[in-house]
Amino acid sequence: MKIGIMGGTFDPIHMGHLLAAEAAMDSHELDEIWFMPSHVPPHKREAGASGQQRLEMTEAAVKEVQHYEVLGIEMELGGVSYTIDTMKELWRRYPQHEFYFIVGADMVNYLPKWEQIEELAERLTFIGVGRPGFQLHLDDLPEALQDRVLLAEMPLVDISSTAVRRRFAKGHSVRFMIPDAVHQYIVRSGLYGTKP
Ligand code: ATP
Ligand code: MG
Repeated sequence: MKIGIMGGTFDPIHMGHLLAAEAAMDSHELDEIWFMPSHVPPHKREAGASGQQRLEMTEAAVKEVQHYEVLGIEMELGGVSYTIDTMKELWRRYPQHEFYFIVGADMVNYLPKWEQIEELAERLTFIGVGRPGFQLHLDDLPEALQDRVLLAEMPLVDISSTAVRRRFAKGHSVRFMIPDAVHQYIVRSGLYGTKP
């Protein structure tokens, strides 16, 4: 199968993530999308949700969505999540699948700085999607990387997890920016300054 990996912090997961995944799946005939929340060590993070909570919110978001799954592998592996290490583990566990890694325009520009990007790009195809505020210029990437990034068109949405967290903290509405089930989870858990 062709699997699209959607990696991120997902603090919390929002409609931009889901639309990016859907665009990649549709444009490149992927069979499934696996959402993969990263494990980030506690001392590195601003006050947000825990790894377990980010995993559970991501599960709540895709629970009833066909062809979407959640992968807890980076929580399992722990420590700082380098994509090269995670991918090596996925290639080992699932030699039958072909993996594509979905990234927003901000991440595409940052790809040259990824740990062992040459080795990663030899085996992994990236799918880049647009994001308001970020130019998606493949020409700016090193030549070896340019051929390794496919593009997918999506309806651009100016939503970020940071903005969602801030809106919660100020008591503003985030309805339709995040899935209802995620909204309920956040309020139930008193995350991001909400009152349970
Ligand atoms: P934060 O504000 O905390 O950085 P974020 O909204 O950027 O959160 P991440 O978890 O950092 O979300 O991003 C995971 C992946 O999703 C990245 O590849 C990022 O580029 C992509 N992404 C996030 N938001 C959007 C969006 N609105 N449109 C397209 N891609 C997005
Ligand atoms: Mg981000």
